[in-house]
Amino acid sequence: MNTKNAGFNSKLIHSGAMHDEKLSAVSPIYQTSTFSFKNADHGAACFAGEDDGYIYTRIANPNVRELENAVAELENGFDGIATSSGMAAVNIVYLGLLGAGDHMVSHNAVYGPSRGVMETLYPKFKVESTYVDATNAQEVRDAIQPNTKVLYIETPANPTIGITDLKEMVAIAKEHNLKLVVDNTFCSPYLQKPLDFGADIVLHSMTKFINGHADIVAGIVITKTEEDYKNIRNVMVNVGCNMDPHQAWLTRRGLKTLGIRIDRAQESAQKVAEYLEAHDKIEWVKYPGLKSHPQYELGKAQMNGPGSMISFEVKGGVKSGKVVMDNVHLALLAVSLGGVETLIQHPASMTHSKLSDEKQLSGGITKGLVRLAVGIEDVEDIIADLDQALAMI
Ligand SMILES: *Cc1c(COP(=O)(O)O)cnc(C)c1O
Repeated sequence: MNTKNAGFNSKLIHSGAMHDEKLSAVSPIYQTSTFSFKNADHGAACFAGEDDGYIYTRIANPNVRELENAVAELENGFDGIATSSGMAAVNIVYLGLLGAGDHMVSHNAVYGPSRGVMETLYPKFKVESTYVDATNAQEVRDAIQPNTKVLYIETPANPTIGITDLKEMVAIAKEHNLKLVVDNTFCSPYLQKPLDFGADIVLHSMTKFINGHADIVAGIVITKTEEDYKNIRNVMVNVGCNMDPHQAWLTRRGLKTLGIRIDRAQESAQKVAEYLEAHDKIEWVKYPGLKSHPQYELGKAQMNGPGSMISFEVKGGVKSGKVVMDNVHLALLAVSLGGVETLIQHPASMTHSKLSDEKQLSGGITKGLVRLAVGIEDVEDIIADLDQALAMI
């Protein structure tokens, strides 16, 4: 089926679909490291790029290509490069776009390891970076230097759920000739398509919404141009952070239900957020679907829905946060997000506990902040679980 003009949910099912010619298998898997050539001339043509026959799975594999084609089509990109993890996707973008003497501006609330690797490993290669609050465009403008090459953002950000204005970031990138990279993990292409706004590159941890079942770790980079695609694919092939065929097959399977999973999770998240906002042990709730979100209008303008990630502050700081963690039964006490299970975590005592109080606060991590990734269980059960845990404070 040609999916070019199909609706989003039809694309989720059919984009990139391969049909095994010999057996007409609907969902074949090519668990192989290598591919045999018909003869010497065929081998030569494959290596010369004159024949698109497969050579070796680190370079390309049919299951991986199916997934890459599908996600690229969903993001309206040129093509995709799948990777062994989301962090591998982050790193091949850094390696492809930055070199000695270059500088990157990024958001201070990006995924922790995306910042950690930039600040610990890349200075060895003379790459510099500055982290600012990208929800304030002026801070981004002020951080740009003559050697800035990349603007790297994430919206909504984690765990503050702050929203960065994509149109403003595109304008800044154009003005200063920067590549604009957007980590779109929190939204998936169902809720936000940064390339349509003018971003150059989108990346995902497919571990989260795209696969959606908490059973694999995976990543992908989607580019707008062929030039960026070739450059970054070359990095992936040579670093060797390719995706495995079985991992690709599972991810392609998870992708098929992305739309219905997000519809359900976000409908529940809205109800959970409203329940929390009315609770007397809650200081505040941050959720793009609540009018009280400081960027409610911006979220509505650039996202197709508010998503299923909620942050809230329980009264009583670290102690209360821990009480909630110790008393939930349905919600799993775990990092990650975007799966069918509801997950809950307390950054001050868990993911961000190694940071100083000052650093926690500058990243928006307050002592009673709880992050909730709403799953697709019955919403009545999710609310009842939170209700009995909050009663323990
Ligand atoms: C999880 C995550 C990553 C890293 O992905 P892995 O698959 O864990 O390597 C990057 N960005 C965001 C926003 C994430 O949530």
